[in-house]
Amino acid sequence: MEIIKEIEKMQQISREEAAAKKSIGFVPTMGYLHEGHLKLVEKAVDENDITVVSVFVNPTQFGPEEDYDEYPRDLERDLSLLRERKVDYVFYPAVEDVYPEGYATYVQVEKGTDVLCGRSRPNHFKGVTTIVSKLFNMVIPHRAYFGKKDGQQLLIIRQMVRDLNMDIEIVACPTVREEGGLAMSSRNKYLSSKEREAALVINRTLEKACSWIEEGERDGWEIKKAMEREIKAEPLATIDYASIVSRETLQELGVIKGPIMIAIAAYIGSTRLIDNVWLEVT
Ligand code: AMP
Repeated sequence: MEIIKEIEKMQQISREEAAAKKSIGFVPTMGYLHEGHLKLVEKAVDENDITVVSVFVNPTQFGPEEDYDEYPRDLERDLSLLRERKVDYVFYPAVEDVYPEGYATYVQVEKGTDVLCGRSRPNHFKGVTTIVSKLFNMVIPHRAYFGKKDGQQLLIIRQMVRDLNMDIEIVACPTVREEGGLAMSSRNKYLSSKEREAALVINRTLEKACSWIEEGERDGWEIKKAMEREIKAEPLATIDYASIVSRETLQELGVIKGPIMIAIAAYIGSTRLIDNVWLEVT
């Protein structure tokens, strides 16, 4: 496994691998890897000749009051996990090379970015689409792997790839959960054991919403209200949103039908957690 810091070197390697007819799979991450990330990595290794994993905590997707400085980092541990999975290249660029002095260009998707997480994190998705576009230009992959755990992010990236005619296949991977159902996240590290217990309310509420829909409920607002009640009943949780949206438009649905995403964001103590499930409703 080779560790690449220089952007030009990464591009050169990718061009050489592609010229040798090797397919390149790419997993962008912010590091502090857990089983959720590693499932994406294993799938990429399985499906491609060459796998590149990037580790880059992207400052432009964090708000001024958010946890960029405190975001957990442990490169040595990440590298050993990736080595075990037979990754070929770890791309680990420096912030000042990615965003040098005078940097001025951003990529912005203009639909679905001001709802759900976009409402409380106004520039978040602009930062995400910008860094993902830049990483695509640096790594030049054939396929890129993203987790459904960040469902809105995945749908926005698909929109960007379609709109900008990027010749990259976006592969969606299922959410990996801890025993008990909590979606794995690097931010789970912030939770005390009491908070970890309280955080289960998020997945539990999503499961309840699924079962109400399975039982025939189709009123989106009723389910939204019921989800809000469930979360408010947990003293350590503060709700940001509980929404049922169309996966095509990311807009909330009064009548539940079609490909939908049920999504929740909530603070558990001071840690903001998100989770979602995808359903096809007839
Ligand atoms: P991050 O390091 O949080 O930016 O995540 C990097 C990639 O891993 C993103 O595509 C995430 O959606 C994905 N990911 C994070 N947590 C999980 C999880 N629990 N299950 C599946 N994918 C995940």
